[in-house]
Amino acid sequence: MKPLASIILAALTVAAFNTHAKLNVVATLPDYGAIAEEVGGDKIKVTAIARGTEDQHFVDARPSFVRVLNQADLLIEGGADLEIGWLPPLVNNARNPKILANSPGHVILSRYLRLLEVPTVTVDRSMGDVHPYGNPHFTLDPANGKIIASRLAEAFGALDAANAEFYRANAGKFNERLDKKLAEWTGLMSPFRGTKVVTYHKSFDYLLERFGLVLAGTIEPKPGIEPSPSYISSLIPRLKSEDVKLILMESFRPHKTPEYVAQAIGGKLLLLPGSVGGNEKVTDYIAVFDYNVAQIVAALKPSK
Ligand SMILES: [Zn+2]
Repeated sequence: MKPLASIILAALTVAAFNTHAKLNVVATLPDYGAIAEEVGGDKIKVTAIARGTEDQHFVDARPSFVRVLNQADLLIEGGADLEIGWLPPLVNNARNPKILANSPGHVILSRYLRLLEVPTVTVDRSMGDVHPYGNPHFTLDPANGKIIASRLAEAFGALDAANAEFYRANAGKFNERLDKKLAEWTGLMSPFRGTKVVTYHKSFDYLLERFGLVLAGTIEPKPGIEPSPSYISSLIPRLKSEDVKLILMESFRPHKTPEYVAQAIGGKLLLLPGSVGGNEKVTDYIAVFDYNVAQIVAALKPSK
């Protein structure tokens, strides 16, 4: 039999280890994960389920994530039905009470943000529209990044009170950096306020609204619905009549139709990352905007 002292010592060691173990955070999307890393620093371990090169509505939910979610202390999701097609089976199979609905370890970000394009009538997902509760691509407004950082600091602090102040301070520093950058991006984009653009999916609406660009149309007739030839042939003359010269889309979407439309209107097609990891250059949240703003400015600048 072990002496009592060594049993107590062992128990204390386990307790000490648990106190200092990193919070195990799972984010559905890489943007949420990137902001979580800014806030949590070395006190948390972050895993993102989706890759930046995937359609956020149709993520390849590999079964290995069941085990990852089983070990999680906290799950961050966007909500507004963004992950409805792939997250619920993973969470159900993970059987982890910490991350179930209404637990402190389950954060639904859309609850803390003002969503664009919230339908005024009920939208049935069976009709194909994948934005039934409004536009869920809210991380493309840097001002929303700030709200997310503050919310995550609260959520981490609630689970790990010893480091609550650390999380709050990190969120504050991150938000200060974002404010400075936001002023810089706004300045760069200001000559192009009011410019009309087209996107493939309604994924850049928050970016457009933040910087005063106007969405003149989308290649998809509705979010998640592929365009028909008749839809495209009615879109092209309208874009021409409104003198629209720029199409924005993520590189993982089909290229053929937008290339055809770009040619028909005599415009440019710009491939942009819709999130962290959307290309190899955008490895953190601020880099997404540095990259996208520079690309849009270069495309809209009058050629000499
Ligand atoms: Zn969408």
